[in-house]
Amino acid sequence: MLFKSTNSDTSPVSFKEAVLRCLPDGGLYVPASLLDLRQFFVYMNSGATYPELVSAIAPLLLQGEMNPYSASRVAESAFNFEPELVPLDDHYSLLTLYNGPTGVFKDFGVAFLAAVLEELLKHSAGAMVISAGRGDTGVSIASAFARRRGITNVILYPPGPIRGLKPADFVPNGGNVIPIQVRGTFDDCQNLVKAVINDRPFAERYGVTCANAINIGRLLPQALYYLYAFIKVKKQIQGDLIFSVPSGNFGNLIAGLYAWKFGMPVNGFIAAMNGNEPFGSWLRGGRFVPRPAVSTKSPALDISSPANFERLAAFYQESPVVMRNMVYPAAVDDRATLAAMEKVWRQYQVIIDPHAAVAFAAAEQLSENFDPSSHVVVLATGHPAKESQTVLEATGQHIKMPHGLALLHEPADPIAIIKPDLTALEGAIASCL
Ligand SMILES: *Cc1c(COP(=O)(O)O)cnc(C)c1O
Repeated sequence: MLFKSTNSDTSPVSFKEAVLRCLPDGGLYVPASLLDLRQFFVYMNSGATYPELVSAIAPLLLQGEMNPYSASRVAESAFNFEPELVPLDDHYSLLTLYNGPTGVFKDFGVAFLAAVLEELLKHSAGAMVISAGRGDTGVSIASAFARRRGITNVILYPPGPIRGLKPADFVPNGGNVIPIQVRGTFDDCQNLVKAVINDRPFAERYGVTCANAINIGRLLPQALYYLYAFIKVKKQIQGDLIFSVPSGNFGNLIAGLYAWKFGMPVNGFIAAMNGNEPFGSWLRGGRFVPRPAVSTKSPALDISSPANFERLAAFYQESPVVMRNMVYPAAVDDRATLAAMEKVWRQYQVIIDPHAAVAFAAAEQLSENFDPSSHVVVLATGHPAKESQTVLEATGQHIKMPHGLALLHEPADPIAIIKPDLTALEGAIASCL
């Protein structure tokens, strides 16, 4: 597959180049050509495991850049966890995406990116992956990149403890992770990531790229779990198939749209937002007016200006009318979020987290737009144990933290503490290597 920038008409680049450059000329990479996976939907059997599915599709994604054998090795080394399709009834299924090391769907994209980079860089000088990490995102990235040959992993985070990193993985202890605390805001960390990538002399000396969601190498593999859900539900569905996606930065939704563009038969996507619905009116054909985010019970969706705006806009520029028939925006407040958690527990004895609840409530809210025989796959993006307080409030149930996720509570010390300043950052990195 080839990729182009949303910001210019320069010639398309390979997957490897798109992954390593991350941010071309102020834009974002999007596919310049699409895969046609319609064949795949015919022959892939519904009993396939996730690694089997990834091994079948990764060689097509990476065609011309990696032989099929290496691509399968990437699939195997990326995933020791799987999504699960949980049928609720004729109308609803859950796609649980929280079985990875940090209990959120982001583990899927990060794990693939780490495995594919290691393979692509086998015969080159090595690379440095630099990311802004808040909450568990930094941990997700650190755990996927730990011990990957030839890759140094710098994580920038704002003041406050960073939890769940393993000091044994840090550079001074023989590992490859460099956690750096930045005396500033999370936005300062994100701006520093962009500044380092755009500092060409430094970026080229160390082979710098990033593992934030802006990297297409993290976004694209998320399309694979939509395909997985499709092969699991296709036998059970009589009518239309809809995915409901709790959306903050809109990466997950865009990955679903790629799956659709690759030929997955699907009839619509619900862009499920909470009280923060920065894209609501834009998706309906109005203007996009960023508003400061407010705190809700589904914190991962509290975003004022989604990072994937250019990518979403690229879809609408191509075919606005088709897109308005494909993406259904919905806004769900905290009360409806808690009510959805309670209902799913009462009706199906299944506990969902507030983010999945936003998606479930959005599907119910929009049900009149869909054929009565349609089936909605609700993306369960976060482990309910990570929001145990809200689970208790909504359902009265105490939920235990799985052992792996409990480790996310251990605080770790940074290797350096710096001002939000490019020279300070580059100095801190250089002094570790
Ligand atoms: C990040 C996150 C989301 C939002 O996903 P986007 O791709 O940013 O839209 C939803 N749910 C959970 C649990 C998350 O961590």
